[in-house]
Amino acid sequence: MWVTLLLLVALATLAVGLVAHRLLAPAGNPFARPPSGPPRPLVTELRVRDKVLKRGFSAHRVPPELDAVVVGSGMGGLAAAGTLAKVGKRVLVLEQHDQAGGCCHTFQEQGNEFDVGIHYVGQMHEGSMLRVALDQLTDGQLRWQRLPDPYDEVCLGPRRYQLRSGKTAFAAALEEQFPAEKAAIREFMRLSKVGPPSGTPCRGWWHVPRLVPRWLAALLVRTGLIYWISPVFRMAATSHSEAVAQLTADHDLRALLSYLFYGQGAVAIGRAPL
Ligand SMILES: Cc1cc2nc3c(=O)[nH]c(=O)nc-3n(C[C@H](O)[C@H](O)[C@H](O)COP(=O)(O)OP(=O)(O)OC[C@H]3O[C@@H](n4cnc5c(N)ncnc54)[C@H](O)[C@@H]3O)c2cc1C
Repeated sequence: MWVTLLLLVALATLAVGLVAHRLLAPAGNPFARPPSGPPRPLVTELRVRDKVLKRGFSAHRVPPELDAVVVGSGMGGLAAAGTLAKVGKRVLVLEQHDQAGGCCHTFQEQGNEFDVGIHYVGQMHEGSMLRVALDQLTDGQLRWQRLPDPYDEVCLGPRRYQLRSGKTAFAAALEEQFPAEKAAIREFMRLSKVGPPSGTPCRGWWHVPRLVPRWLAALLVRTGLIYWISPVFRMAATSHSEAVAQLTADHDLRALLSYLFYGQGAVAIGRAPL
């Protein structure tokens, strides 16, 4: 029993060491050096953009030697492809739709522009991890506009609720609107922050199963060792709506706590992270 446990811990340490080495070694960090040239000019003209975003597939356009093929051109796929390209890898991005962008793409209809998904993104203040990553990936071309505060109003039947930005103001505004549910709101805020403190390098514990080799991830899950890494994995056995239902019987508050998590840059309590 102890020998198996020691072996597992040694293997896990080795895998974490390998991942850390690959991420931290100068050659493996695409952002170790400043960009080689000034940012390319931002292209806003539709026809010019479409030439890149709407390139139809043709076998003869596929370069002969590729380092990676990324399937899907959403924010995730393009971030991965862009990062690889920055370290000099030759990447092909394949998209099933007639336009790149996934949930971030826009389209025009009768002279109006529509977006299909993202309308706001949380935690984009100067110096935040997300902001630094996106600035690097886009050569600083992506511009951000601060939303007014309250940044959102949720209408549930005749009732209207305001959402405020910033963790403290957000919780305080909810408590004001649901005075009988203070304990539930505080517990929700506590649960949504489970893990190491913000700003520490290991905040994204839920990524561990994706970063280590697949066999090791399976082993960690099957043996239950994963629960020792972070309580977030124990929460992953419950869906977000189940977790919220355990906190409060108020249907409006349940709806609010369920709808908002993606725009907060936060992670849903429950199954979503895995
Ligand atoms: C209506 C809506 C509103 C949202 N609002 C916000 C918001 O305000 N703030 C926020 O932070 N998040 C928001 N989100 C969530 C956010 O948009 C997504 O989490 C994020 O864009 C997902 O990016 P992704 O790259 O993982 O996937 P996607 O953007 O879904 O991209 C996946 C891409 O892969 C392609 N694809 C899939 N399978 C294949 C295949 N076999 N071959 C080729 N291509 C394939 C798809 O066509 C798609 O283009 C919203 C989502 C929706 C739907």
